[in-house]
Amino acid sequence: MRRFRVLKFGGTSVGAPDRMRQVRRLISADDQPKIVVLSALSGTTNSLVTIGASWKSGLSQEVEQQVENLYDHYLNFINELVSEKNPEALVVVNFHFEQIRKLTAVSFNRACNQELLAQGELISTKLFHLYLQESGLSACLLPALEIVSLDEEGEPDMPRIQKNLQKTLEQHPTAQIFITQGFICRNYLGEIDNLKRGGSDYTASLLGASIQADAIEIWTDIDGMHNNDPRVVPNTFPIESLSFDEAAELAYFGAKILHPNTIWPAQRFNIPVKLLNTMQPQAKGTVISSKKNPGSIKAIAAKDGIIAVKIKSSRMLLAYGFLRKIFEIFEQFKVPIDMITTSEVAVSLTIDDDEHLDQVVLALKEYGEVAIDEELSIVCIVGDMVVDQKDLLAKVFDAIGDKSIRMISYGGSKNNISILIPTPLKSEVLLALNASLFTSKLVS
Ligand code: ASP
Ligand code: MG
Repeated sequence: MRRFRVLKFGGTSVGAPDRMRQVRRLISADDQPKIVVLSALSGTTNSLVTIGASWKSGLSQEVEQQVENLYDHYLNFINELVSEKNPEALVVVNFHFEQIRKLTAVSFNRACNQELLAQGELISTKLFHLYLQESGLSACLLPALEIVSLDEEGEPDMPRIQKNLQKTLEQHPTAQIFITQGFICRNYLGEIDNLKRGGSDYTASLLGASIQADAIEIWTDIDGMHNNDPRVVPNTFPIESLSFDEAAELAYFGAKILHPNTIWPAQRFNIPVKLLNTMQPQAKGTVISSKKNPGSIKAIAAKDGIIAVKIKSSRMLLAYGFLRKIFEIFEQFKVPIDMITTSEVAVSLTIDDDEHLDQVVLALKEYGEVAIDEELSIVCIVGDMVVDQKDLLAKVFDAIGDKSIRMISYGGSKNNISILIPTPLKSEVLLALNASLFTSKLVS
């Protein structure tokens, strides 16, 4: 049986012809069979989202202009990627842009918009495949739309994905390199859909889990997950190893390098996930695995755009069933909750999506006074914290000093301390925590 590795290359790793050449070098560096998952060229999905928004607003001239701009970008791209004598690349680009023009010519609907968004990955994989062919490297193009499917809940249908992938791989018993699209899939109605923005990582993990790959490698343009936000804190460094639980916390709370859903399929089948840098392939990057490192603080991350919702009810809170009623409201509107704290008379929780906020508030008002705070950030400290690490909380509070904290959550899991602060204080808090936690013996 072939033992595979799954390698995912993000938008910037395929966003220029020279980058694609580098990807070719990386995937042909050893003989192990590989499934290569590609994103759309960088900027393409954003452009398609913009085109979709103009289309939805009925701005047909804007749509036309935006489509033509993107088309020009692709004409330049293929000019540099393949030789002039190769007409195939232009056929691919023309075919997909014809699709885009046809789709946006009808009236807007969600299914067609999802099909529009899928064009980026369809083009990038076909162009890369053509380039490999021209360069003499044989590879097999796998259609993600026939492999990755969602169930009625909109969640990946693992048994089906597993079956589809096995079957497709068996059809090519001698192939060593498979190329496929990240992000795109079919929903339970059979329509083209996607795994949400940044979802190519998730594709890689679903495919890797489906064939119990040796490793899932996520190739980006940074050298792994950093111990703090490099945009705010100087001298951050890549974290060499993380446990699955730590990585899930970090991916969720701000480390943009990895789609948060990437962790669970890998964790379920115990497949290491490696975060690597296309431009610096020798760098160690970050390895995420089941290996734990008790007592170590690994990283600090922050997530902006958080909204706190407080429900105060002196009558109700002690009554059992109160929290259930509150949670049911969030469930009804499919709004995920991140942090929660309670006191005897009030409960505060945070969300990061205000789409249904008005409806949620209206429904909550039945149970007490409701107050909303916006422009907040969650700062979270991630690691494998052990109870006898007595100085940890002292260091955290020391770093925060007199800065105002809106909420704090400790003990929910031993991998995370979360602090909710006003966003304008974020940089200060990240810097202070960095100084107090990473210049001490707590560093692993
Ligand atoms: N192309 C998609 C996006 O930009 C998926 C991905 O790159 O992971 O969101
Ligand atoms: Mg990404």
